[in-house]
Amino acid sequence: MNAPTPYIVAENVCKSFGTNQVLKDVSTHFNTGEVTVIIGASGSGKSTLLRAINRLEPHDSGTIRIGGVPVTDDPRTLQQQRCEVGMVFQQFNLFGHMNALDNVALAPRRLRHLARAQANEQAMTLLRRVGMQDHAQKYPWQLSGGQQQRVAIARALAMAPKVMLFDEPTSALDPEMVQEVLDVMRELARGGMTMIVVTHEMGFAREVADRVLFFDKGRIAHDAPPAEFFNNPGNDRIRAFIGRMG
Ligand code: ADP
Ligand code: MG
Repeated sequence: MNAPTPYIVAENVCKSFGTNQVLKDVSTHFNTGEVTVIIGASGSGKSTLLRAINRLEPHDSGTIRIGGVPVTDDPRTLQQQRCEVGMVFQQFNLFGHMNALDNVALAPRRLRHLARAQANEQAMTLLRRVGMQDHAQKYPWQLSGGQQQRVAIARALAMAPKVMLFDEPTSALDPEMVQEVLDVMRELARGGMTMIVVTHEMGFAREVADRVLFFDKGRIAHDAPPAEFFNNPGNDRIRAFIGRMG
């Protein structure tokens, strides 16, 4: 096997909101083809790191590189990077006035200038992949939370990203809908997608992750493969956190 290639590299990343230092000298990397699960208490900086990776929230100092290219405000590289990095949020944020198919086809039409027929065909393929082909004509309000989140995943995939960031994708869902979304994510991982997943789903972390990172007050306090992470959590804070999450 080839050595893993770091696709995203963070070096000494710092970020504050006013006097609240949220990322404290974070250095880590995310390898091509690997699934990294990030866990940690609310407010520990997990979302801020994901948002810094695609520049929704600029970091103050340090460097983030995607495929070797630093993340900055330069509009040319930023547009390219936003195409390479797909993101799925806790609140699915589908466009309410568009059906599922149009939600998925919109960005390829606007940004890749695909013709409508071609964009729709690609969108149907993606909806099939997330098990939503029979709901293509439905609007978000006609879909359950789990169905909406699966459409949101298809929408993120439509730009053919090289990495997918998931920020607590199942936290807003009723319990009975969590598995259908995790199943779609598991399939993506199986297909070799590079993924960074913030989640409290410890079963998913154990089963799917190549690495688990534990965030504690703006720092990465532990970084290990899941077997090691869960069997030997490193310190009592992490052990207690895992215990609470089940
Ligand atoms: P997590 O995702 O781990 O729950 P976040 O990265 O969302 O944590 O937040 C880390 C800290 O930064 C929290 O204290 C939060 O209140 C603060 N924070 C996040 N976004 C903002 C913002 N836009 N303005 C001010 N404070 C923020
Ligand atoms: Mg968060």
